[in-house]
Amino acid sequence: MKIVYSDKHAAHDPHTFFVRGVNRPAAEQPERATRLLAAAKGDKHEVMAPRAFGNVPAAAIHTPEYLDFLQTIARDWAQLPNASAEVVPNMHPARYPATYPKALAGRAGWHQVDLACPIGPGTWEAALAASEVAATAADLVLEGARQAYALCRPPGHHAYADMAGGFCYLNNTAIAAQRLRGDHQRVAILDVDVHHGNGTQGIFWERPDVLTVSIHADPLNYYPYFWGHAHETGGGAGTGFNLNLPQPLGSPDAPWLAAGDAAIARIRQFAPTALVVALGLDASESDPLQGLKVTGAGFQAMATKIAALGLPTVLVQEGGYLSDALGRNLVHFLAGFA
Ligand SMILES: [Zn+2]
Repeated sequence: MKIVYSDKHAAHDPHTFFVRGVNRPAAEQPERATRLLAAAKGDKHEVMAPRAFGNVPAAAIHTPEYLDFLQTIARDWAQLPNASAEVVPNMHPARYPATYPKALAGRAGWHQVDLACPIGPGTWEAALAASEVAATAADLVLEGARQAYALCRPPGHHAYADMAGGFCYLNNTAIAAQRLRGDHQRVAILDVDVHHGNGTQGIFWERPDVLTVSIHADPLNYYPYFWGHAHETGGGAGTGFNLNLPQPLGSPDAPWLAAGDAAIARIRQFAPTALVVALGLDASESDPLQGLKVTGAGFQAMATKIAALGLPTVLVQEGGYLSDALGRNLVHFLAGFA
């Protein structure tokens, strides 16, 4: 399989990640991507660099105001007296009507949904490169490849059109899907990351042309807490075009694969002509985030089911954190498409 990768991801090396009020070492480390790349190379996949698109693919999904914020905030923040090394908000607009502020701390609160998406000096460069990786993989599929894998870092599926969150800044999965829409009337997204793809759901909430399906740990007890419930089915013209399949915390392979069957049945009914898989590997039993207990064989079985759809498919790397199984699980998943 063709693998698209940029080493610019390493410019983003976050240090802020609040867990139960304590600032912990960030789980989303550059080593994730180097381990995934090493595993893919060891498995004889062909690796190529992304094409230079600038912010054009990102601008098809994200608002101009948000892109300006991501591009400039770290530089401007560094000029503030006593500012932290990474941009982290100290207030959010919460659930009530609000007005866009001028102060940098206010803009940070507007555009960063949580304290797990710090913005450092290299965040924009890395996120932009990841969006180019996703767009390049989508273009390879548009040009005739049956599948392509976008080794994106930072990940993207928690990012909304105007908001970062959960280690994510630009929604690479949404960017790939939108790119495929250029030639395909109906595109489906299947998100198998252990966390609900809340940003992706939000972006396509009112759209009937992009079906969004997510299998994840139940948000009643797991990030992103507020989104990912089964009753969220889309809004307006998009009503019925979002499917959430939350799983009890700690679920093993069997129910996860059964959810995969339900997801695939809905995708068949939708009859798309192209597919994006939001490929989080953090549902692994070995993942430090410990949401579900999927094995390597489980990942391969899920991939085999997805491949049987026979659709042109872009795989976009989402989560999956440092463990001895990380690279192995990627190899298992890609083997499902062999
Ligand atoms: Zn995740």
